[in-house]
Amino acid sequence: AQALSRKFVETKGQGTQKTVAIIGGGLSGLACAKYLADNGHKPLVLEARDTLGGKVSAWQDEDGDWIETGLHIFFGAYPNMMNIFSELDIEDRLQWKRHQMIFAMQEFPGEFTTFDFFEGVPAPLNFALSILMNQKMLTMPEKLQTAPPLLPMLIEGQNFINKQDDISVLQFMKENGMPDRINEEVFISMAKALDFIDPDKLSMTVVLTAMNRFLNETDGLQMAFLDGNQPDRLCAPMKEHIEMHGGEVRLNSPLDKIVLNEDGSVKHLLMRGGETIVADEYISSVPCDIMRRLVPKEWPTMPFFRQIDGLEGVPVINIHLWFDRKLINVDHLCFSRSPLLSVYADMSTCCKEYWDDERSTLQLVFAPCSPLAGGKVDWLKRTDTEIVQATLEELERIFPTEIGPHLEGGGAKLRKSAVVRVPRSVYAAIPGRNRYRPSQETPIKNFTLAGDWTSQKFLGSMEGAILGGKLAAEVVSDRAAGRETKGLKEIEPHVYDDAENFVAK
Ligand code: FAD
Repeated sequence: AQALSRKFVETKGQGTQKTVAIIGGGLSGLACAKYLADNGHKPLVLEARDTLGGKVSAWQDEDGDWIETGLHIFFGAYPNMMNIFSELDIEDRLQWKRHQMIFAMQEFPGEFTTFDFFEGVPAPLNFALSILMNQKMLTMPEKLQTAPPLLPMLIEGQNFINKQDDISVLQFMKENGMPDRINEEVFISMAKALDFIDPDKLSMTVVLTAMNRFLNETDGLQMAFLDGNQPDRLCAPMKEHIEMHGGEVRLNSPLDKIVLNEDGSVKHLLMRGGETIVADEYISSVPCDIMRRLVPKEWPTMPFFRQIDGLEGVPVINIHLWFDRKLINVDHLCFSRSPLLSVYADMSTCCKEYWDDERSTLQLVFAPCSPLAGGKVDWLKRTDTEIVQATLEELERIFPTEIGPHLEGGGAKLRKSAVVRVPRSVYAAIPGRNRYRPSQETPIKNFTLAGDWTSQKFLGSMEGAILGGKLAAEVVSDRAAGRETKGLKEIEPHVYDDAENFVAK
């Protein structure tokens, strides 16, 4: 990560300076613009909405309380993200938590169990030790049955991990004789946290990719919260850096159409307001579902762009609950292990800007939230009241002495709530999808892709978004300096047939 960052600075000014129009002001578009600016180019970020950040965007309600698109956790195993924090000199904005994972106990309401990582113990020993020391979630025979199927990951590495993309987590478990309880105790929580879906839907590659990082990096699983809302605390310094180095970031600038030259290259961008944006290079950092709609009608028969048909964003809901009192004080992310919920955190304790000594604010990820994500009910279509009610019912198990009508006085009162529906979030990492993630370089000579869903070794995540943007910036900067680029990623043979038979709808 550091070497690539350095490359942009060290090769600054090599070749011709380019104007680069970047569609989308999420983390990927902003990272891309930052590194292009570091390399001496002139990026222009065009963000459709009135706020930066995309899936990390947030806004204030009438009381001034922040509503976030998602509860976001930073991991030690996010090298490119950590780099950006240090390059922008804002590392102190990350609030690192104790090196542990906290799980609510399914059978014992109100109880939690932890996996603790001990200081001074290097990876992968610290990972193994944390599992061995936890006596509450898995028995020793279950732990022993889990390890052997995962061993090839340590020996073969990425090769083994990639080969598991065609099977789901559940299939992998069955094929390797892992006990069902591992799924119930560990993999359901993991799958819901990693991709908002259940293990029968999630590709095994995803779990292995995450585990591999945590096994290889001593601080990989250590978690941090940003000390406040993402638009101000992370996106604003990125914007400032871009503009200080000759770039520009524009809000309220939705792209309508990519207009082409006769040779199929991009001629200009037509904005929804009627304005035309002309640049030397064009980069899209919009999510895969939007990119599919933006592909110009002249491109869809190109196999490269047909790959995007294989990718689709997964729905998720983010919930905020403001209570009239402080609940059990946990300064960390918690795995709820409840049917409707994934992870949650008390932001009034975990995050400096939302600090409140007297009243809790829970932020909870509701997943899987629709049949599209493998859930039974389409919660996206339910009212906010229904979603909040269902969430409170699940919380009665996690906070049995604090939440619920059975308590004297009715327990903690909900002061207010906010429900954020994200109908298409990160790409659904169901089996067989990894191969459709396209390279940042495209067959179009002045058009490049960025975004967390493009091909890179991280999942759809903040780290994936930053790396996707950085790799897109590398394509443009290499091309501008006359250096050889990494080239196009190989395309699945059947995509060629799909492209040939493509009929525009
Ligand atoms: P986006 O953030 O989607 O950015 C794309 C941008 O393009 C948006 O700003 C959008 O408005 C803009 N755009 C779209 N169409 C147009 C147009 N026509 N013209 C101009 N602009 C356009 N990741 C983690 O690492 N850790 C977590 O804990 C975590 N938790 C999450 C929880 C939730 C509930 C959600 C939804 C996501 C979570 N993620 C997490 C994932 C993370 O937020 C994303 O992977 C990352 O932010 C994606 O960044 P991006 O720039 O690739 O895409």
